[in-house]
Amino acid sequence: MLTKRLPPLQSFLVLVSRHASHLARQQYDVIVVGGGHAGTEAAAAAARVGAETLLVTQKINTIGALSCNPSLGGVGKGQLVKEVDALDGLCGRAGDWAGIHFSILNRRKGPAVWGPRAQLDRQRYREFIQAELLSTPRLTVVEGSVEELLVSEPNAEEPGKHRVTGIRLANGSNNISAHSVVLTTGTFLSGSLFMGQTTSPGGRIGDAPSSAGLSNTLRERLGLRTGRLRTGTPPRIVKNSVDFSLATIHPPDSEPTPFSFLNTHTHCKPEDQLPCYLTYTTLGVERVVKESLHLNCHIQQDTKGPRYCPSIESRVLRFPGREHQVWLEPEGLTSDLLYPQGLSMTMPPDVQLRLIREIPPLHKAEIHTPGYGVQYDFVCPTQLSPALQVKSTQGLFLAGQINGTTGYEEAAAQGLWAGVNAARLALSLPTLSLSRTESYIGVLVDDLVSRGVTEPYRMFTSRAEFRTSLRPDNADLRLTLKGFEEVGCVSSFRYQEAVRVRDTLQDALAALQALTLSTPKWRKKLPDVRMSEAKSTVLTGTDLLQYKDVTFEMLASTFPECLSPYMEFGQRLKIEAVYRPHCDMQKKEIERIQKEENMSLPQDLDYFSLQVSLSQEVREILDRVRPSTLGAATRLQGITPAAIVHLLNYVHHTEKRERRSHRSKPVQKQETEEELCARNASLPQ
Ligand code: FAD
Repeated sequence: MLTKRLPPLQSFLVLVSRHASHLARQQYDVIVVGGGHAGTEAAAAAARVGAETLLVTQKINTIGALSCNPSLGGVGKGQLVKEVDALDGLCGRAGDWAGIHFSILNRRKGPAVWGPRAQLDRQRYREFIQAELLSTPRLTVVEGSVEELLVSEPNAEEPGKHRVTGIRLANGSNNISAHSVVLTTGTFLSGSLFMGQTTSPGGRIGDAPSSAGLSNTLRERLGLRTGRLRTGTPPRIVKNSVDFSLATIHPPDSEPTPFSFLNTHTHCKPEDQLPCYLTYTTLGVERVVKESLHLNCHIQQDTKGPRYCPSIESRVLRFPGREHQVWLEPEGLTSDLLYPQGLSMTMPPDVQLRLIREIPPLHKAEIHTPGYGVQYDFVCPTQLSPALQVKSTQGLFLAGQINGTTGYEEAAAQGLWAGVNAARLALSLPTLSLSRTESYIGVLVDDLVSRGVTEPYRMFTSRAEFRTSLRPDNADLRLTLKGFEEVGCVSSFRYQEAVRVRDTLQDALAALQALTLSTPKWRKKLPDVRMSEAKSTVLTGTDLLQYKDVTFEMLASTFPECLSPYMEFGQRLKIEAVYRPHCDMQKKEIERIQKEENMSLPQDLDYFSLQVSLSQEVREILDRVRPSTLGAATRLQGITPAAIVHLLNYVHHTEKRERRSHRSKPVQKQETEEELCARNASLPQ
């Protein structure tokens, strides 16, 4: 069931203040600036943790707006949505409410890297997020533009550290104070919009950029380093002007899989889902791009754009002579528009029309709204702590595209984590970090704060070293219990449900483990399953479930007395059984690293010639810093847990070899932690 009906939006709008002067209070625990994907999760999370929270955003009716593609999830991104949901965030449930085409991407690969994804109805998504926020206890929402951050100068107690004390709204409104402020201004910081040779200030079409005052406070007053990035969006196409017979239909999954652990089905019925269509560019598209380059000032700039969601101009210039995929995606159940994914472009509108008509199904297509580009400032995220707090400014947290990421999911994940920590700081609780070994959110934040960004950052499963443990199916077990017991952002309703799931899965795995039969006996029970020839082997139910063609349902119908109570979790049990040996091994590796903290690393190691799988970046850091122990290496910025495992194995192997050849080990000088930090600090950031 869908756990919550959508609350009627109108009834909540009366609760909304339009202007700061209507506010009941002028002091909050937490103020969140911006009602996009980061801001909405931040505000809701801060309120869930127990902070009196104010969300200030330019327009209430754009809260939860999908600025670009009407879709959520995907490979790597879907994992983030599941984790945000596991921590009681909004986007997973909103996706289940608004989804109109659900599919699991990457199904040919293992379930650890499946990508839950949904095409969304824009309007429904926005309505859900707005209704949720406006009914969240301890959360006030106001419409307004934040002009400036209020900041106090460093004092003797905290030398070199500013402290944020609140915000000033535009239009001469009063100041509003807060212990913590979360900035989530997306593409709006010094934002400029581009179409052809026209440039205008803006954060998104129809929306003004953030005020110059905000950028000035960040850069000049707080001395934060910023950079500039760009992105773009395709034209929206009139649906009934498209010839779908010339495209390939891409149906949704026949049984939609909800994002949220609280939902057993999606709001859209399976049979009501809409299809997407696939088509390709032609050489005519490349010709139009090349002919119109002189009319396209966005593309002539050297500001970095997204490598993984590039404009059609960048694609054809980088890979000439190729056909490029274009997905024709619905914008909503009743919308007359289509979103052509892969056709983000910034040329003049008449050239955009010429270009799309070079694509066979679009040969008579009409454009409803032309595509455009946006360039914006981001704050270099290495200036943040793992709690997403600006290191040099107490109480100031940043989340979302302002940190150099791209995508709703990356923004939502950071927003939730920044909101949690902003609230905890305001409530005098210690701030927290999530590790790379327990979540994709941990990977995302660690990548940002330790490596920084040079181009818009998006999540991939390959970024997570422990991805077989960080699966979409087990995000609740990894995070919901911790979210309630340690973080404080999960409701007791969700917690009780996660405890029930955990206990039932444990009972079911124990029942599977207790089912022990010899291979011949298993063969008699399941004659169609091809099992190993080793006759004497005794196999458990868990072992059997690891066979590709054995399902939990098969085992449950063979042993109904002990397994039928667990039918509800058949698929989860199958995945758990398949990955368990690998996850156990990974867990042991993590424990081994913790145990071997004090293991010495030879000071004369030539990190560049080591025959182990280390990236060039990791080799450079290790070579420059030369940590004396494994523990010291784990604390270096940019060193991944996987690199540590390789290093540990290498040193063990070498030691063994040396012992065997009776060579004595060189005596190593132990470096103090201070020496290490001094050397680490001298590294370029
Ligand atoms: P946003 O969702 O942009 O929200 C920022 C919010 O802050 C807005 O509500 C704004 O009104 C508010 N705000 C800003 N300044 C102030 C202020 N001073 N006071 C009060 N409120 C303020 N992502 C992709 O993954 N792929 C793409 O291809 C892609 N293309 C994009 C193209 C365009 C043109 C745009 C605009 C965005 C695109 N995105 C794309 C990015 C995607 O929209 C963002 O990654 C995501 O929305 C970022 O979320 P956010 O919360 O950081 O910012």
